Amino acid sequence: EEIILDIRNMKKYYPVYKGLFKKVVGQVKAVDDVSLYVRKGETLGLVGESGCGKTTLGKCIVRLQKPTSGEMRYRLGEGEMRDILKLDGRESFEARRKIQIVFQDPYSSLNPVKTIYESFDEPLRLHRMGTKAERKEMIARLLESVNLRADYMFRYPHEFSGGQRQRICIARALCIKPELIVCDEPVSALDVSIQAQVLNLMKDLQQQMRLTYIFIAHDLSVVEYMSDRIAVMYLGQVVELASSEELYAAPKHPYTEALLSAVPTPELDRKKERIVLKGDVPSPVDPPKGCRFHPRCAKCIDICRVEAPPFRKAKGKEDHFVACHLADTEDI
Ligand code: SF4
Repeated sequence: EEIILDIRNMKKYYPVYKGLFKKVVGQVKAVDDVSLYVRKGETLGLVGESGCGKTTLGKCIVRLQKPTSGEMRYRLGEGEMRDILKLDGRESFEARRKIQIVFQDPYSSLNPVKTIYESFDEPLRLHRMGTKAERKEMIARLLESVNLRADYMFRYPHEFSGGQRQRICIARALCIKPELIVCDEPVSALDVSIQAQVLNLMKDLQQQMRLTYIFIAHDLSVVEYMSDRIAVMYLGQVVELASSEELYAAPKHPYTEALLSAVPTPELDRKKERIVLKGDVPSPVDPPKGCRFHPRCAKCIDICRVEAPPFRKAKGKEDHFVACHLADTEDI
């Protein structure tokens, strides 16, 4: 499939202030030189511990945050790829419509004093989609597409359960016909018993509407279930990227190995030993020199402390990239 989104060297730094006069004393490097692409119709998983930058990256993609630098090329219509960070006016508005987000917390992402109809009608009107009667019909169909009754549109958010609210949020993200949806931990606030239901619904909608997902989660089994490819982030950078099967079968970065070793597997698999990471994630204000993972890496060698490993293609693999001095890599 063709590439729909191509991010190059994206950075998002926040200033750190101190004292009464808010003197800038440093920068949080939340996203630090991330390059990756997404193919139309696929799901790209983004994983990593909290604070690794995955949510900030997601917000930059939907432009709730403005990246500090970098390019974000997107395929607008049948046309060529355009850097949507440089568009303005009508084109920028149109590009924003095509990329939507679903948040983790369905309790706070719906306005409690508005009916579902009002919450849906607002973006539809903003994007000049249909007459009043047509919009009402669209909202009814959308609610049905997430397995809710059409007449629920006249109810308020508090009248629904967590799972129902998240389905409403998904339907609302879909109402202005986006192509790419950033799903930021969409099921982690829900009861385990209804997580699978919502995930399966998302998969069905993806097929029916040819949607592309960027799926952010810290739960690796959820990400594996949803994703075609997975990018592993550590301290603002992507350290490994591969297809789900490849990543789970043969991870090449010690951080990925450690994350995967914590995922429970069937009893029979006794070969796998749990790798316990030393210490906490270091501060993104002053990340370690060389390989950012080196203070916690059991395989660290001398060069790791001074030189950052480049993000390169794994040897003999088509779609597997890794940033580690010990990994066998080659030029593209
Ligand atoms: Fe570990 Fe060195 Fe690889 Fe970093 S580059 S992950 S410190 S072995």
